[in-house]
Amino acid sequence: MSESRPAIPDPMKRSVRQRCGFGCVVCGVPIYQYEHMEEYSVVKEHKEDNIILLCPNHHQDKTSGRLSIDEVKKHAENPRNKKTDHTSPYNRLFVSGPRVEFFVSNTKYISTIEDGGSFDAIRIFGKTVVGCKRENDNILLNIVMTDHSGEFVLEVSNGEIIVSTGVWDYTLEGKEIIIRSGPGQIEFKMSIDGSVVTIEKGTFFVPPVKLFIESKGHTIWRNGQISPQQGFVMINCSVTDCKGGLVIGN
Ligand SMILES: [Zn+2]
Repeated sequence: MSESRPAIPDPMKRSVRQRCGFGCVVCGVPIYQYEHMEEYSVVKEHKEDNIILLCPNHHQDKTSGRLSIDEVKKHAENPRNKKTDHTSPYNRLFVSGPRVEFFVSNTKYISTIEDGGSFDAIRIFGKTVVGCKRENDNILLNIVMTDHSGEFVLEVSNGEIIVSTGVWDYTLEGKEIIIRSGPGQIEFKMSIDGSVVTIEKGTFFVPPVKLFIESKGHTIWRNGQISPQQGFVMINCSVTDCKGGLVIGN
């Protein structure tokens, strides 16, 4: 890479992500790098239709010549994720343990997990929406996120992540995952830093309960409305070493 090489402009990166279906054009996993099909050192400019997403493995295959440019172009014309409503699974998102800290909005759920055990930070009617389990000394994250109408947006199942290809934008950069429904509209924001899983924004819908994670706290709706009997707002709480965090229903 030349020192004078400019960064790819953000709007161009977004167009590339959307065109490629938020994952590697070859295999569809939602962890990606931006790659110029015709090398930048040759074309010496960022042109959107020359840039694609490749996962680290297929990026390496292309760089080493095991994956030909013709083959890459074939996949770029017909990205794997454009054929389905969700990305391929990427295994896996690493969380350190055995003591795991979920920071969800301004509430903390902290627990030490025994091997073979699990911890649900948030469970709604028996369904884990934010939690993890420990198997063979690995912490395996579990998250199920929907949009406001209950449609699937993102799932992390025992550490394996898949994302809806119907979202407006999805980024996994550094330690942070962000899903947007439009310009400036963040629907989901999560980061993982060692043993700390931070969720700043998200919607979790297990009928009839909707849980909104926002900067002010958790807001819980039931049967389409919030009321003193049927819903509440949770702000600045802390749950440490309990069997479960926020458990709604049985
Ligand atoms: Zn790939």
